[in-house]
Order: sequence, then C-alpha cells, then structure tokens
Amino acid sequence: MNQLYAQLGISREVYDYCHEVELGLKERFQKFDETAEYNQMKVLLAMQKNRVSEECFNGSSGYGYNDYGRDTLEKVYADTFHTQACLVRPQIACGTHALAIALFGNLRPGDELLAPAGKPYDTLEEVIGIRPSRGSLAEYGVTYRQVDLLEDGTFDYEGIKNAISEKTKLVAIQRSKGYQTRPSFSVAQIGELIAFVKKIKPDVICMVDNCYGEFVDTVEPSDVGADMMVGSLIKNPGGGLAPIGGYIAGTKECVENASFRMTCPGLGMEVGASLGVNRSFYQGFFLAPMVTKGALKGAVFAANVYEKLGFAVVPDGKEPRQDIIQAVTLGTPEGVIAFCKGIQAAAPVDSFVDPEPWDMPGYDSQVIMAAGAFVQGSSIELSADGPMKPPYAVYFQGGLTWEHAKLGVMMSVQKLYEKQLIQLDKTGDSNDCKESDRSGSRSIRNDCRSHSRKEWRGGDTH
Ligand SMILES: *Cc1c(COP(=O)(O)O)cnc(C)c1O
Repeated sequence: MNQLYAQLGISREVYDYCHEVELGLKERFQKFDETAEYNQMKVLLAMQKNRVSEECFNGSSGYGYNDYGRDTLEKVYADTFHTQACLVRPQIACGTHALAIALFGNLRPGDELLAPAGKPYDTLEEVIGIRPSRGSLAEYGVTYRQVDLLEDGTFDYEGIKNAISEKTKLVAIQRSKGYQTRPSFSVAQIGELIAFVKKIKPDVICMVDNCYGEFVDTVEPSDVGADMMVGSLIKNPGGGLAPIGGYIAGTKECVENASFRMTCPGLGMEVGASLGVNRSFYQGFFLAPMVTKGALKGAVFAANVYEKLGFAVVPDGKEPRQDIIQAVTLGTPEGVIAFCKGIQAAAPVDSFVDPEPWDMPGYDSQVIMAAGAFVQGSSIELSADGPMKPPYAVYFQGGLTWEHAKLGVMMSVQKLYEKQLIQLDKTGDSNDCKESDRSGSRSIRNDCRSHSRKEWRGGDTH
C-alpha cells in the first residue's frame, strides 16, 4: 500500500497523518454505509418492480415515440422517490434548466412564486427575474416574493404566513445551501416547512431543489410532502455515469405541466429521443447510492483532516451532512493553489495538467479550478475550486469512489506539506490558521461561506 501511495506521490508523513484521521471516522462511515445500503435496496426494488430488461437499454432516435427504456426509467425514478411521475431526460441540459422547466410549466401570469427559506441558487436569479433577464418569469408576469431565514438560520414562520396570499401558487425550497451562508436543510426540516405552508394554503405547489441531496438520507423531500423535486444527473443521481441530464419527480399533474414546457404544449413527455444514454442512466442510478456515499465520506474526511490541521471548515468535522460540498479556508493564496494542484494531480483525467489562477470574464478576482472529470463540469466527480481573494477558501466535492476522494484529499495535503504551508504534528497548533481560527472562527466560517461559487463562476457557466 505504502509503495503504491509513494508512486502516486504521497509521502509517508502525509499518509500516516491522514490514516490516523481515517481511523477515527469508522463509526461515522458505518452510518453512511447503512444509508447507502438502504438506498441501494430502494433503487433495486424499483428496478425489479418495473421489470427492467435488456431492451430498456436500446435508445430511440427522431421523435422518440414509445421509447420503452426511457419510459421505464422514469417509472423507476418515480418508484424510488415515491412519486406519481418523473421526467428523466437528456434534453434537460442541467440542473438550472430542470428547475426552470418545473417553474415555467407550473406558473401562469398573475401567479406568485414564494421562496420561504431565503434566496434560491444564483443561477435561478435570472430564471425568476430577481436580476432582470430576457425571458425570465418576471417578463411573463409571474411575481416573486422571498422570506429570509431568521438570524439563527431557522424558518421565519410568521413572515412566511404573512407572505402567503391569494396569488401564491408555488413555493420553492432549496435543500442544499449551495454556496450560501446558511446550513443545508434536512429532509425533516423541509417536511415541517411544507406542512406549515400547506396548512395555510393546501393547494400551493411545493417544489424542492434537491441538487446534491439525493441519497444523502434514506428519505427524500418527496417523502415529506413535496409536490415536485428537481435535480441534475451530473450530480448524485447520475452516479457519475450519466453524461448529461436532469429530472423532475412529483405529482402527475406537476410533472405533466413541466413536460409541456420541456418540449411543447400538446407533445409533453411523448417525444424526446433517448439516443444512446439509457444504459448509462440506468447504470448510474443503480450506482448512485454508493457513489454518493463515497463523496460523503470524502467530504467528511477532508473536514476532519483540515480541521485537525487547524483550518476552518464548513461543515465542521462532526456536523450531520445534508449534501456533499466541503469548504476549507486555507487563509493564503499559496494554500489555495497548492490544494487545487493536489486535487488535479489526483485526477484520472488530465492529472498532468497544472492548474493556475486565471482572470476570467465576469469575476472580480482570479480563480483556480481543479477538475479531471470524465464528464465536463460533473461535480459528483472529484473537483475543487477557489477564488484568489480573502479569506482564501476552497470548495471541494465529489469523488466517484471513496478511495479516490481520499487520495484527492491526501494529495492536497501533500502539496501543502511540500510547500511548507503546514506542519504535520498531532494537533495542528503550529499551522497558520490556528490563531485566527481561535480568535474568530465564526467570522472566518461565515466569510468562507459567503463566497458564492457562482459569484466567481457565473461567467463560466452562463
Ligand atoms: C448545482 C445546483 C443547481 C443547478 O446547477 P447547474 O449547474 O445548472 O446544474 C441548482 N441548485 C443547487 C442547490 C445546486 O447545487
């Protein structure tokens, strides 16, 4: 083992340091194993119930009428998530597109969209029209209202009650914090919020942005009252194998409404050829519980390694996880660069590439990104990025296997070690961030959280 790690460039000191952290995570990891086992059976049952067979893997072309594999996969998703219906399509370009389809398909002029738990994901700002944008919901006469979380991060029930009116048609809740300053919500919390909203207005549609959340828990938002649940296939549910796509699971009516926006009125879900992706979609969904588990273990491992080294991490090493994103505040530009070089060096694709901070259009600072993925931009695969500005934090996520995520974290430590940016003693006392961490760990964390990824990625993705 040591020899192989040495060949990969991991020194004995780094290996030993990280190995000790790993030993302390056994119980935590066992919980992840149990969740994955449960979810694996859930997916398997849905596949068996729907009699998945070889012919499901044949793709259609052209209009895609009667695409048996596509239609069966949508039933598998619906049964796994306990919903009446689901769209799972390569025509859905990304998570933002899936969310936009769900919103446009279910809202009409004069309706109001309510965000009861703060601002949604950055890319939705232009979909909704929070930032004026061509073709936004606002341009079609759909108004928007937002109730922010209370200071302590809990729901502002009084504010939500006051915000619900005659016009309120759809409520949008985002499970993962994405790159915001709040904690991610548990499925149980989302259930409470939905129950509260429905008590005031039973016919309101509750939609949950489930990106990064699938299979992190044994229940999903659709199990606690969500009418619609939306996500991206190049995150958790694609299992790393889906090369594109998004899904919308929910009530028959909501999903059908979305389908008329995905294609067009009248055609809905009847058209949309699967081309050659069916097999990858099935196989990826089958593996998704395990892949998500690996990414979760990687995130918790990173949190604990860097916490022990004395750096501020969000979430911290012990917090329950609701998504697979890990933020680490390294405190120096050199630290951010070394971390990302380590992630890149651990990649199966483009490991020979040396990432550099770069001026990118639309960003207010240079950015460094590390990704050696099989699928472009896939964030279920091992990846990291950081803006070259204080507090010098990086966001780390993914890893198709726990073993690979672990190597990525170790390699990042290795690069910091080689640059003498850290010392590998037992406590982390001698490392840079310790003093500032002690004196103001909360503010560092918040700083670190407040660097929205889309804030510096915006120009890249859209
Ligand atoms: C990734 C993500 C999205 C959608 O992003 P895309 O880049 O368009 O796939 C939406 N909401 C959250 C919380 C996300 O993490």
